[in-house]
Amino acid sequence: MTEQKIRKDIIKFSKLLNKTNLSPLRSGNISVRYKNGFLITPSGMRYETLKSKDIVFVDLKGKYNSKKNKPSSEWHFHKDIYLNKKNANSVVHCHSKNALVLSCIRKKIPAFHYMVAVAGGVDIKCAKYATYGTSELSKNIIQVLNNRFACLIENHGQVVFSDGIDSAFELAQEVEHLSEQYLECLRIGKPKILTNIEMSRVLKKVKNYKK
Ligand SMILES: [Zn+2]
Repeated sequence: MTEQKIRKDIIKFSKLLNKTNLSPLRSGNISVRYKNGFLITPSGMRYETLKSKDIVFVDLKGKYNSKKNKPSSEWHFHKDIYLNKKNANSVVHCHSKNALVLSCIRKKIPAFHYMVAVAGGVDIKCAKYATYGTSELSKNIIQVLNNRFACLIENHGQVVFSDGIDSAFELAQEVEHLSEQYLECLRIGKPKILTNIEMSRVLKKVKNYKK
C-alpha cells in the first residue's frame, strides 16, 4: 500500500472514531505500520481538520521529525505493539464509553458471551493503570496482550490491533459492544460465564472462520 493511501485511510477512520462515538472529540488515535515504523494521527488536532501531511511517521526506535507535527502522545504503546506483534499492521486506541466505564471499575471482560473470542482468547484483560503517554503504560498493555488482539486500560479506555485498519476498527467496535452488553448483564445480576472447554471450541471455530 502506498504511503499516500495509508495517510488517507488513517484520516477516514479517525473521522469515523467521532462519527461512530468510539471516541469523542480529540481522544483516541490510529496508526498503520509503514516501512521501519508506523504512520499515526498527530497530537491534539481535531479529526475533521486533518490533512494528509498532518499524519506523522514514527520509526520503531521512537524517532520522528521534530520540525513537523508531534505524534499522538500515546505513540509509545503503538510502537511497542508493532515491535512485539509481527501480525500487527494497524492499532486503534479509543475512549469508547462502555469500555471506559468497565476500565474505571477495573474489570476484565470474561467469557460472558462467546463473541469475547474475537479478541483471541477466553477473556479481554484490563491493563494496569499508568499515566497516559508513558512507556510504563505501554509495558502494562503489552503484558495483557499476550495471545490477545485487544485489551481495556484501567481508568482510560481500550486498545486493539489487527492485520489491517478496517479489521482493527471493527474489533474496537466489537470490544465496545461487548463492554456495553457485559455492563448490562452486571446491572441485573451475575452473568453465567462460559467454561474454558466451551471457549476453546469457539476459539477453534473463530480461527477457521477468519481463514
Ligand atoms: Zn487515550
